[in-house]
Amino acid sequence: MADNWPTRLADAHGRVGTDLRISVTDRCNLRCVYCLPADAATWTRRDDLLTPEEFTRLARIGIELGIRDIRLSGGEPLLRPDLAQIVAGCSEAFEAAGLTPHVALTTNAIGLASAIPALTDAGLERINLSVDTLESSRFADLTRRSRFDDLLAGLDAVAASPLDPVKVNTVIVDETSLAEIGALVRFCLARGWQWRAIEWMPIGPMPHDHSAPTGEDIFAELSRHFTLTPRTQDDPHAPATTWDIAKGEDHPAGIVGIIASMSAPFCDRCTRTRLSADGRMYPCLFSRTHVDLKHLLRSGASDAAIARAWADGQAAKPRGHRWLPEVPQAYSLSQIGG
Ligand code: SAM
Repeated sequence: MADNWPTRLADAHGRVGTDLRISVTDRCNLRCVYCLPADAATWTRRDDLLTPEEFTRLARIGIELGIRDIRLSGGEPLLRPDLAQIVAGCSEAFEAAGLTPHVALTTNAIGLASAIPALTDAGLERINLSVDTLESSRFADLTRRSRFDDLLAGLDAVAASPLDPVKVNTVIVDETSLAEIGALVRFCLARGWQWRAIEWMPIGPMPHDHSAPTGEDIFAELSRHFTLTPRTQDDPHAPATTWDIAKGEDHPAGIVGIIASMSAPFCDRCTRTRLSADGRMYPCLFSRTHVDLKHLLRSGASDAAIARAWADGQAAKPRGHRWLPEVPQAYSLSQIGG
């Protein structure tokens, strides 16, 4: 490593970035009511999306700066025909540094059945599936698309795959989501998958004063169905608070979690750094500012210059979203990667 490289992605509040979230595309095949407007039609120009080679270069630089986990997200990452190439590039970047690859994917599972073999061959280990409902009409209402059968096909393919662990994330957007928790958790337990509730966040098209159930409401609903024992955190930086579920009459034992980003933010232990599909680096989901790494990549900047720009951007990571002024976000998670 050249002398003038920063050594790590430290910020002014004592946190160090080790966990890289990459949005590989802002396009999506669903229009979830809390994520994208019904008429969403303005996407990043294809020329502006980073190529697999550019993602690989940034992964390599990030790993030099201390990144130890990479998660690919979007938009819907499966819409990129070269997704397996991106996974392979990230895996190779870890191997080149003498590290075990840790590459994971967050997806809505649509189209997953045919993609799994190439993705696992490329080094994909772990998967997070976004599943808000197991009821076809509710799925159509929430996603504004009739792709429920494709979702089920994707879930079946994951069940038959070597991907492990499998985590299912559900955004608890209203009382109907809350009422479906028992069924969703049983579905996951039966497959040996972990279920995690995500508190709705005021990013995206829903009115930002929308009142969604909180982590406490979710815990109360879980407790009505299951016997829960708090788990000691395996990873102190993990955003979810987790519980063991004891075996019951109609379900095996398992693990569930709640990510209460709004009512119990995990900002003080957040180790994330983010890249958008067009190569902007954001230190936080709620960041107002970004660093344009694509411009550096495409204007002949050295690895050291890119590393410096990245480290400077991360240094400005806000202390947390509680401390940010209440102005509406300009983007949705589909742009910056959930
Ligand atoms: N298309 C992929 C998927 O569905 O998993 C990856 C991108 S999606 C933006 C990632 C995650 O962000 C999903 O679990 C989605 O439900 C979540 N998400 C999007 N907008 C959200 C919001 N306003 N509050 C909470 N979660 C949100």
